[in-house]
Amino acid sequence: MKIIDVITGEKPSLSFEVFPPKKVSNFDNVMKAAESIAKLNPSYMSVTYGAGGGTSDYTAEIAERLSALGVPSMAHLTCISSTKERVHSELDKLRSRGIESILGLRGDIPEGFDKSKMEYRYACELIEEIRDYGGFCIGGACYPEKHPESENIDKDLEYLKIKAEAGCQFFTTQMFFDNDIFYNFLYRMLRKGIDVPVVAGIMPITNVKQVEASIAMSGTAMPQKFMRLVDKYGDKPEAMKQAGIAYATAQIIDLFANGINAVHVYSMNKPDVAEAIKQNLSEIIK
Ligand code: FAD
Repeated sequence: MKIIDVITGEKPSLSFEVFPPKKVSNFDNVMKAAESIAKLNPSYMSVTYGAGGGTSDYTAEIAERLSALGVPSMAHLTCISSTKERVHSELDKLRSRGIESILGLRGDIPEGFDKSKMEYRYACELIEEIRDYGGFCIGGACYPEKHPESENIDKDLEYLKIKAEAGCQFFTTQMFFDNDIFYNFLYRMLRKGIDVPVVAGIMPITNVKQVEASIAMSGTAMPQKFMRLVDKYGDKPEAMKQAGIAYATAQIIDLFANGINAVHVYSMNKPDVAEAIKQNLSEIIK
């Protein structure tokens, strides 16, 4: 099933993300975690491509195995340090493994990257190519607090519109911790004439290290009410985990209550966190 059909269905969509291992020796552990999350019967699962500490090597295989378990899956694909030839072979691979949906991304620019050899500059170029290849449902990334490289949110939205016009059928947001920022972003998107569905990306913060990593990665604002939890429970790992899950759950309930139909949880290969969130929402997403 294509992701666009999942997120535009009647039922609220709650999906989870996993990332592939860095080393082959960790493949079984990652697969075990991914399968445990799949058993929770999420609306779909997505598998990153060279992000979150993993490599790009196993994305297609993990996505294929998740589909075989009956969970619609989506493979991420980045282009910045890739070639047209490599992208086409990845598309062939995804097609042959029966993957129907791709999140088309630029990827972060590696340090010391030689831009003169670059075959892709922006995600919209990859998305156009996937569209021309044909047959895939295509998603892309968006940033309620703007992409860290963008000069301002208006410029970011102009480029987002180009991405939608290039063939992006839906967007998944970068993590955010203040729902009002997201609602404001949706309003600004609509005013720019971008009306593709948006999946809200929620990251449950379950330890203090993740706070700094999340700010560094996404530049997202941490609201005072969240930082108070970190101050109070940061040095008590189990309490911090419980508080982080409760905070993410409250965000998700507020999103559903405000008419948002699709939420994607950055579950970071943690079945216990995914399970706790699913359990907290059991009646809400019935
Ligand atoms: P783009 O849409 O190309 O945007 C990058 C920058 O260029 C922005 O500042 C934008 O405003 C600007 N821009 C865009 N189009 C144009 C244009 N036409 N002209 C001028 N400027 C333009 N990374 C991974 O490596 N693997 C993953 O699996 C992965 N998954 C992700 C999933 C989600 C939901 C999100 C939000 C991010 C993910 N990332 C992943 C990180 C992502 O690759 C980085 O944030 C990257 O820096 C930008 O990717 P993008 O696709 O948003 O790029």
